[in-house]
Amino acid sequence: MISITFDLWASGAMLAIRKITAGHGGLSVDDVPAPKEARGSDVLVKVEAAGICGTDLLIYKWGDFAKRMKLPTIIGHEISGVVEQVGSDVKGLRPGMRVSLESHVPCGVCYTCRRGWAHVCPHTRYPGVDFDGGFAPFVMVPESVCWPVPPEISPLQAAMMEPFGLAVHASMEGSGVSGLNVLVSGCGPIGLMNIAAARALGASKVIATDVHPLRLAAAARMGVDECVNAADDSVYETVRSLLGERGVDVAIDYSGQASALKALIQSITHGGELRLMGVPSQEISLNLEEWLFKGLVVRGLHGRGLFETWERSTTLLANGRVDLSSLVSHRVALSDAQDAFEMALNGKSLKILFEPNGACA
Ligand SMILES: [Zn+2]
Ligand SMILES: [Zn+2]
Repeated sequence: MISITFDLWASGAMLAIRKITAGHGGLSVDDVPAPKEARGSDVLVKVEAAGICGTDLLIYKWGDFAKRMKLPTIIGHEISGVVEQVGSDVKGLRPGMRVSLESHVPCGVCYTCRRGWAHVCPHTRYPGVDFDGGFAPFVMVPESVCWPVPPEISPLQAAMMEPFGLAVHASMEGSGVSGLNVLVSGCGPIGLMNIAAARALGASKVIATDVHPLRLAAAARMGVDECVNAADDSVYETVRSLLGERGVDVAIDYSGQASALKALIQSITHGGELRLMGVPSQEISLNLEEWLFKGLVVRGLHGRGLFETWERSTTLLANGRVDLSSLVSHRVALSDAQDAFEMALNGKSLKILFEPNGACA
């Protein structure tokens, strides 16, 4: 076994980013025991790249979702890597294979899972939340969440397959996007990925809205037809001037903001679809009258289709129909955790990726 971190792992310790105390911040970057031998259906993955996501920021800020965590826990759940070791019951993987990790570990046996809705299983466990995650050189996960990655997909892109899967899932749900006019609200990394996914899956016009100029510039680079800065311009008026009375067929919200949702409901055509991805930070009030009279379909979305979304995401990336590379704004070492989290919080970054075993190709 040859690896940069072999000595570290063999010595039983590895550097990792852990949430150690409740409340804002509370991270430590220090040596912890490395995962022991892979047993049963477990797989030991040597992490190539791992992205900071909104959920990690919630953990950092100690939002409500984080309060289920038992501390300390190694965080990080958007992970690509190479299989280092497999347990005796692992059937489909062997050491040396490259993988990207699904971040939901559904129970597989409940009513929800049995109906094919495992991505919203109420008993889901998350690496980096409910057990040690991937902001470390090694992570131990069940085989069921390891998705083999073809060589055409780089380690950095593979680390973004988990969030990209959300965007692909949001684009495939309901009436899909093929031939339809799509409005993406909120141009953080997943909104930007959604612009690319909607384009690649055959959307007609794609319009994006946000309030940050940096994000809107990134949306323009992802091939959007029109950007609306909702701080300056009316989303509804812009949609009307572009598409007339018809409006957009599908609006996908990543912002979770009441003002954005109101503008989307106004801008969607009668009988169109509103897909909700962004989690509001508090209860919001909406007037449902317009929604009702327009006959809108409203879909709450969470996670990725297991594993149909992964199939589709793999095809889009491997064939070069979507290239996520430009979304990587920072590649950092684990020791830069504090700065990286502050940068992610102040909105001056797109995707920040840790490379726990050194820079990958
Ligand atoms: Zn995430
Ligand atoms: Zn379940």
